[in-house]
Amino acid sequence: MEATLQTQQPDYEVVIIGGSYAGLSAAMALGRSLRRVLVIDSGLPCNRQTPHSHNFITQDGVVPAVIAGKAKEQVLAYPTVAWKQGLATEARRDGDRFVIGTAAGEQFSALKLLFATGLNDQLPDLPGFADCWGISVLHCPYCHGYEVHGKKLGIMANGDMAFEYVRLIHQWSKNIVLFTNGPSTMTDAYRDKLQQYRIPVIESPVAELQQEGGSIKAVELGDGQAERVDALFHRPAFKQHCPLPVELGCVLTDHGYLQADDMGKTNVPGVFVVGDAVSMMRSVAAAVAGGNKAGAWINKELAEAFF
Ligand SMILES: Cc1cc2nc3c(=O)[nH]c(=O)nc-3n(C[C@H](O)[C@H](O)[C@H](O)COP(=O)(O)OP(=O)(O)OC[C@H]3O[C@@H](n4cnc5c(N)ncnc54)[C@H](O)[C@@H]3O)c2cc1C
Repeated sequence: MEATLQTQQPDYEVVIIGGSYAGLSAAMALGRSLRRVLVIDSGLPCNRQTPHSHNFITQDGVVPAVIAGKAKEQVLAYPTVAWKQGLATEARRDGDRFVIGTAAGEQFSALKLLFATGLNDQLPDLPGFADCWGISVLHCPYCHGYEVHGKKLGIMANGDMAFEYVRLIHQWSKNIVLFTNGPSTMTDAYRDKLQQYRIPVIESPVAELQQEGGSIKAVELGDGQAERVDALFHRPAFKQHCPLPVELGCVLTDHGYLQADDMGKTNVPGVFVVGDAVSMMRSVAAAVAGGNKAGAWINKELAEAFF
Protein backbone atom coordinates (compact mmCIF):
# COMPACT_ATOMS: atom_id res chain seq x y z
CA MET A 1 0.00 0.00 0.00
CA GLU A 2 1.29 3.46 -0.92
CA ALA A 3 2.49 5.58 2.00
CA THR A 4 0.47 8.76 2.59
CA LEU A 5 2.42 11.92 2.00
CA GLN A 6 1.72 15.32 3.49
CA THR A 7 -0.08 17.36 0.83
CA GLN A 8 3.05 19.12 -0.32
CA GLN A 9 5.97 17.09 -1.67
CA PRO A 10 9.16 17.46 0.36
CA ASP A 11 11.92 19.48 -1.29
CA TYR A 12 14.12 16.40 -1.54
CA GLU A 13 13.87 12.68 -1.00
CA VAL A 14 17.15 12.70 0.90
CA VAL A 15 19.18 15.41 2.58
CA ILE A 16 22.80 14.49 3.27
CA ILE A 17 24.55 16.61 5.88
CA GLY A 18 28.32 16.40 5.35
CA GLY A 19 29.69 16.39 1.80
CA SER A 20 33.11 14.81 2.24
CA TYR A 21 34.04 11.22 1.34
CA ALA A 22 31.20 9.42 3.13
CA GLY A 23 28.50 11.90 2.16
CA LEU A 24 29.58 12.15 -1.46
CA SER A 25 29.74 8.38 -1.76
CA ALA A 26 26.15 8.10 -0.54
CA ALA A 27 25.13 10.93 -2.88
CA MET A 28 26.60 9.05 -5.83
CA ALA A 29 24.63 5.88 -5.04
CA LEU A 30 21.46 7.94 -4.63
CA GLY A 31 22.06 10.15 -7.68
CA ARG A 32 22.58 7.06 -9.78
CA SER A 33 19.25 5.82 -8.37
CA LEU A 34 17.57 9.00 -9.70
CA ARG A 35 16.79 10.20 -6.17
CA ARG A 36 16.38 13.90 -5.47
CA VAL A 37 19.21 14.65 -3.06
CA LEU A 38 20.62 17.74 -1.39
CA VAL A 39 24.12 17.65 0.09
CA ILE A 40 24.86 20.35 2.68
CA ASP A 41 28.53 20.78 3.59
CA SER A 42 30.44 23.22 5.77
CA GLY A 43 33.81 22.41 4.17
CA LEU A 44 35.80 21.26 7.22
CA PRO A 45 36.86 17.61 6.71
CA CYS A 46 39.06 16.25 9.50
CA ASN A 47 42.06 15.56 7.21
CA ARG A 48 42.21 19.05 5.69
CA GLN A 49 45.73 19.77 6.97
CA THR A 50 47.24 16.54 5.68
CA PRO A 51 49.35 17.15 2.57
CA HIS A 52 48.88 13.63 1.17
CA SER A 53 46.26 10.96 1.74
CA HIS A 54 47.33 7.32 1.64
CA ASN A 55 45.90 3.82 1.70
CA PHE A 56 42.95 4.40 -0.64
CA ILE A 57 43.51 2.55 -3.88
CA THR A 58 43.75 4.62 -7.09
CA GLN A 59 44.32 7.78 -4.97
CA ASP A 60 47.43 6.88 -2.96
CA GLY A 61 49.44 9.99 -2.09
CA VAL A 62 46.87 12.41 -3.52
CA VAL A 63 46.01 15.70 -1.77
CA PRO A 64 42.83 15.05 0.29
CA ALA A 65 40.95 18.02 -1.20
CA VAL A 66 41.73 16.80 -4.70
CA ILE A 67 40.10 13.43 -3.96
CA ALA A 68 37.02 15.15 -2.51
CA GLY A 69 36.95 17.69 -5.36
CA LYS A 70 36.94 14.99 -8.02
CA ALA A 71 34.24 13.09 -6.12
CA LYS A 72 32.10 16.23 -5.91
CA GLU A 73 32.47 16.90 -9.63
CA GLN A 74 31.43 13.34 -10.50
CA VAL A 75 28.51 13.33 -8.06
CA LEU A 76 27.13 16.70 -9.19
CA ALA A 77 27.10 15.46 -12.79
CA TYR A 78 23.94 13.54 -11.78
CA PRO A 79 21.11 16.03 -12.37
CA THR A 80 19.04 15.06 -9.31
CA VAL A 81 21.86 15.87 -6.87
CA ALA A 82 22.16 19.43 -5.55
CA TRP A 83 24.86 20.99 -3.38
CA LYS A 84 24.63 23.66 -0.71
CA GLN A 85 27.72 25.10 0.93
CA GLY A 86 26.81 25.88 4.53
CA LEU A 87 26.29 24.67 8.06
CA ALA A 88 23.20 22.67 9.01
CA THR A 89 22.09 23.98 12.39
CA GLU A 90 18.67 22.40 12.83
CA ALA A 91 17.08 19.05 12.08
CA ARG A 92 13.66 17.99 13.31
CA ARG A 93 10.89 15.60 12.35
CA ASP A 94 7.70 17.08 10.97
CA GLY A 95 5.14 14.38 10.14
CA ASP A 96 6.42 12.17 7.32
CA ARG A 97 9.54 14.25 6.75
CA PHE A 98 12.53 15.99 8.28
CA VAL A 99 13.05 19.73 8.23
CA ILE A 100 16.66 20.87 8.03
CA GLY A 101 17.70 24.44 8.73
CA THR A 102 21.01 26.11 7.93
CA ALA A 103 23.01 28.90 9.55
CA ALA A 104 22.07 31.07 6.57
CA GLY A 105 18.38 30.72 7.48
CA GLU A 106 17.38 28.34 4.66
CA GLN A 107 15.03 25.40 5.30
CA PHE A 108 14.75 22.16 3.37
CA SER A 109 12.50 19.16 3.82
CA ALA A 110 13.30 15.52 3.02
CA LEU A 111 11.96 12.03 3.70
CA LYS A 112 15.33 10.63 4.78
CA LEU A 113 18.24 12.23 6.53
CA LEU A 114 21.83 11.04 6.29
CA PHE A 115 24.59 12.42 8.48
CA ALA A 116 28.15 12.07 7.16
CA THR A 117 29.44 14.75 9.47
CA GLY A 118 32.60 13.12 10.81
CA LEU A 119 34.49 13.88 13.99
CA ASN A 120 36.12 16.90 15.50
CA ASP A 121 39.57 16.06 16.90
CA GLN A 122 40.27 17.78 20.20
CA LEU A 123 43.96 18.59 19.83
CA PRO A 124 46.00 18.96 23.04
CA ASP A 125 46.68 22.56 23.91
CA LEU A 126 50.45 22.35 23.37
CA PRO A 127 52.45 24.93 21.40
CA GLY A 128 53.33 23.46 18.02
CA PHE A 129 50.83 20.60 18.14
CA ALA A 130 48.18 22.09 15.84
CA ASP A 131 50.89 23.19 13.35
CA CYS A 132 52.13 19.60 13.02
CA TRP A 133 48.75 17.83 13.05
CA GLY A 134 48.40 15.56 10.02
CA ILE A 135 51.88 16.56 8.78
CA SER A 136 54.33 15.13 11.32
CA VAL A 137 51.97 14.50 14.25
CA LEU A 138 50.02 11.49 13.10
CA HIS A 139 47.27 9.33 14.52
CA CYS A 140 47.05 6.43 12.11
CA PRO A 141 50.00 4.28 11.00
CA TYR A 142 47.98 2.82 8.11
CA CYS A 143 47.54 6.33 6.69
CA HIS A 144 51.01 7.73 7.36
CA GLY A 145 53.25 5.04 8.92
CA TYR A 146 54.93 3.95 5.69
CA GLU A 147 56.26 7.46 5.02
CA VAL A 148 58.09 7.50 8.39
CA HIS A 149 59.12 3.84 8.63
CA GLY A 150 62.53 3.26 10.19
CA LYS A 151 62.65 6.82 11.55
CA LYS A 152 62.75 7.95 15.16
CA LEU A 153 59.12 7.91 16.23
CA GLY A 154 57.63 9.38 19.38
CA ILE A 155 54.32 8.14 20.75
CA MET A 156 52.37 10.33 23.15
CA ALA A 157 50.00 8.13 25.11
CA ASN A 158 49.50 6.66 28.56
CA GLY A 159 47.92 3.66 30.27
CA ASP A 160 47.36 0.27 28.65
CA MET A 161 46.39 1.99 25.42
CA ALA A 162 49.96 3.32 25.22
CA PHE A 163 51.28 -0.24 25.24
CA GLU A 164 48.91 -1.26 22.44
CA TYR A 165 49.92 1.80 20.42
CA VAL A 166 53.66 1.11 20.87
CA ARG A 167 53.19 -2.55 19.86
CA LEU A 168 51.39 -1.44 16.70
CA ILE A 169 53.84 1.29 15.70
CA HIS A 170 56.79 -1.07 16.33
CA GLN A 171 55.91 -2.70 13.00
CA TRP A 172 57.00 0.54 11.25
CA SER A 173 60.07 1.42 13.37
CA LYS A 174 62.12 -0.12 16.15
CA ASN A 175 63.39 3.35 17.11
CA ILE A 176 60.54 4.43 19.38
CA VAL A 177 60.23 6.60 22.47
CA LEU A 178 57.07 6.74 24.55
CA PHE A 179 55.98 10.03 26.15
CA THR A 180 53.41 9.39 28.87
CA ASN A 181 53.08 13.17 29.47
CA GLY A 182 52.93 12.74 33.25
CA PRO A 183 53.37 9.70 35.53
CA SER A 184 52.93 6.42 33.67
CA THR A 185 49.71 4.55 34.42
CA MET A 186 50.78 1.43 32.51
CA THR A 187 50.78 -1.89 34.33
CA ASP A 188 54.18 -3.16 35.51
CA ALA A 189 53.93 -6.11 33.11
CA TYR A 190 53.56 -3.76 30.13
CA ARG A 191 56.36 -1.55 31.40
CA ASP A 192 58.66 -4.56 31.73
CA LYS A 193 57.84 -5.62 28.20
CA LEU A 194 58.74 -2.16 26.84
CA GLN A 195 62.01 -2.40 28.73
CA GLN A 196 62.73 -5.77 27.10
CA TYR A 197 62.32 -4.08 23.71
CA ARG A 198 64.52 -1.14 24.88
CA ILE A 199 61.76 1.39 24.40
CA PRO A 200 62.34 4.43 26.64
CA VAL A 201 59.36 5.71 28.63
CA ILE A 202 59.59 9.45 29.35
CA GLU A 203 57.20 10.60 32.08
CA SER A 204 58.01 14.34 32.22
CA PRO A 205 55.09 16.45 31.08
CA VAL A 206 55.29 17.53 27.45
CA ALA A 207 55.63 21.32 27.22
CA GLU A 208 55.88 22.03 23.51
CA LEU A 209 56.53 20.52 20.11
CA GLN A 210 59.50 22.18 18.44
CA GLN A 211 58.67 22.39 14.74
CA GLU A 212 59.31 24.20 11.49
CA GLY A 213 56.43 24.56 9.06
CA GLY A 214 54.57 21.64 10.61
CA SER A 215 57.61 19.38 10.58
CA ILE A 216 58.35 18.27 14.15
CA LYS A 217 61.95 18.52 15.32
CA ALA A 218 61.77 17.62 19.01
CA VAL A 219 59.44 17.10 21.94
CA GLU A 220 60.26 19.68 24.59
CA LEU A 221 59.62 18.54 28.13
CA GLY A 222 58.59 20.47 31.23
CA ASP A 223 62.00 19.82 32.81
CA GLY A 224 63.69 21.71 29.97
CA GLN A 225 65.01 18.60 28.16
CA ALA A 226 64.18 18.07 24.50
CA GLU A 227 63.96 14.70 22.74
CA ARG A 228 64.53 14.70 18.99
CA VAL A 229 61.89 12.83 16.95
CA ASP A 230 61.06 12.64 13.25
CA ALA A 231 57.34 12.14 13.83
CA LEU A 232 54.98 11.84 16.77
CA PHE A 233 51.98 9.51 16.97
CA HIS A 234 49.03 10.58 19.11
CA ARG A 235 45.34 9.73 19.17
CA PRO A 236 43.53 12.85 20.37
CA ALA A 237 40.16 12.81 22.06
CA PHE A 238 37.29 13.66 19.73
CA LYS A 239 33.74 14.96 19.69
CA GLN A 240 31.04 14.44 17.13
CA HIS A 241 31.49 17.24 14.58
CA CYS A 242 27.75 17.78 14.43
CA PRO A 243 25.37 17.69 17.42
CA LEU A 244 22.20 17.24 15.33
CA PRO A 245 22.03 13.40 15.28
CA VAL A 246 22.07 13.28 19.10
CA GLU A 247 19.50 16.08 19.26
CA LEU A 248 17.28 13.92 17.03
CA GLY A 249 17.64 11.01 19.49
CA CYS A 250 20.47 8.99 17.92
CA VAL A 251 22.38 6.98 20.48
CA LEU A 252 26.12 7.37 21.11
CA THR A 253 28.33 4.40 21.98
CA ASP A 254 30.46 4.46 25.14
CA HIS A 255 33.37 5.54 22.95
CA GLY A 256 31.56 8.54 21.47
CA TYR A 257 30.63 7.14 18.05
CA LEU A 258 27.05 7.25 16.82
CA GLN A 259 25.37 3.86 16.86
CA ALA A 260 24.33 2.53 13.46
CA ASP A 261 24.13 -0.82 11.71
CA ASP A 262 26.23 -1.84 8.73
CA MET A 263 23.91 0.08 6.40
CA GLY A 264 24.15 3.27 8.48
CA LYS A 265 20.67 2.85 9.97
CA THR A 266 20.35 4.44 13.43
CA ASN A 267 17.81 3.88 16.20
CA VAL A 268 15.81 6.85 14.84
CA PRO A 269 13.64 5.79 11.88
CA GLY A 270 14.66 7.58 8.69
CA VAL A 271 17.98 8.83 10.12
CA PHE A 272 21.24 7.32 8.85
CA VAL A 273 24.85 8.00 9.87
CA VAL A 274 28.02 6.95 8.03
CA GLY A 275 31.76 7.58 7.94
CA ASP A 276 33.99 8.61 10.83
CA ALA A 277 30.97 9.56 12.96
CA VAL A 278 30.17 5.86 13.40
CA SER A 279 33.47 4.06 12.95
CA MET A 280 36.72 3.68 14.83
CA MET A 281 38.29 2.52 11.52
CA ARG A 282 38.87 6.04 10.32
CA SER A 283 39.86 5.96 6.66
CA VAL A 284 38.76 7.40 3.36
CA ALA A 285 38.15 3.87 2.05
CA ALA A 286 35.94 2.97 5.03
CA ALA A 287 34.03 6.26 4.75
CA VAL A 288 33.41 5.70 1.05
CA ALA A 289 32.26 2.12 1.69
CA GLY A 290 29.85 3.26 4.42
CA GLY A 291 28.32 5.95 2.22
CA ASN A 292 27.96 3.56 -0.68
CA LYS A 293 26.05 1.01 1.43
CA ALA A 294 23.81 3.59 3.10
CA GLY A 295 22.93 5.15 -0.26
CA ALA A 296 21.72 1.80 -1.57
CA TRP A 297 19.81 1.05 1.63
CA ILE A 298 18.06 4.43 1.69
CA ASN A 299 17.02 3.93 -1.94
CA LYS A 300 15.64 0.49 -1.03
CA GLU A 301 13.63 1.91 1.88
CA LEU A 302 12.20 4.63 -0.36
CA ALA A 303 11.28 2.03 -3.00
CA GLU A 304 9.54 -0.09 -0.34
CA ALA A 305 7.63 2.91 1.01
CA PHE A 306 6.16 3.98 -2.30
CA PHE A 307 5.57 0.77 -4.27
C1 LIG B 1 45.03 14.32 10.20
C2 LIG B 1 44.33 13.20 9.49
C3 LIG B 1 44.95 12.55 8.43
C4 LIG B 1 44.31 11.50 7.80
N1 LIG B 1 44.94 10.84 6.77
C5 LIG B 1 44.30 9.84 6.15
C6 LIG B 1 44.93 9.13 5.08
O1 LIG B 1 46.08 9.41 4.70
N2 LIG B 1 44.25 8.12 4.51
C7 LIG B 1 42.98 7.76 4.91
O2 LIG B 1 42.40 6.85 4.33
N3 LIG B 1 42.37 8.42 5.90
C8 LIG B 1 42.99 9.43 6.53
N4 LIG B 1 42.39 10.08 7.56
C9 LIG B 1 41.03 9.68 7.93
C10 LIG B 1 40.02 10.29 6.95
O3 LIG B 1 40.35 11.65 6.74
C11 LIG B 1 38.61 10.15 7.49
O4 LIG B 1 38.35 8.78 7.75
C12 LIG B 1 37.60 10.68 6.47
O5 LIG B 1 37.83 12.05 6.21
C13 LIG B 1 36.18 10.48 7.01
O6 LIG B 1 35.29 10.96 6.07
P1 LIG B 1 33.87 11.51 6.53
O7 LIG B 1 33.18 11.90 5.27
O8 LIG B 1 33.21 10.57 7.46
O9 LIG B 1 34.20 12.80 7.43
P2 LIG B 1 35.03 14.13 7.08
O10 LIG B 1 35.94 13.90 5.93
O11 LIG B 1 35.61 14.62 8.35
O12 LIG B 1 33.91 15.14 6.57
C14 LIG B 1 32.83 15.55 7.36
C15 LIG B 1 32.18 16.70 6.60
O13 LIG B 1 30.95 17.05 7.25
C16 LIG B 1 30.89 18.46 7.31
N5 LIG B 1 29.97 18.83 8.41
C17 LIG B 1 30.05 18.51 9.72
N6 LIG B 1 29.01 19.02 10.40
C18 LIG B 1 28.26 19.69 9.48
C19 LIG B 1 27.06 20.43 9.55
N7 LIG B 1 26.40 20.59 10.72
N8 LIG B 1 26.56 20.99 8.42
C20 LIG B 1 27.21 20.81 7.23
N9 LIG B 1 28.34 20.11 7.11
C21 LIG B 1 28.86 19.56 8.21
C22 LIG B 1 32.32 18.90 7.55
O14 LIG B 1 32.53 20.27 7.24
C23 LIG B 1 33.06 17.95 6.62
O15 LIG B 1 33.15 18.48 5.31
C24 LIG B 1 43.01 11.12 8.21
C25 LIG B 1 42.38 11.78 9.27
C26 LIG B 1 43.03 12.81 9.91
C27 LIG B 1 42.35 13.51 11.05
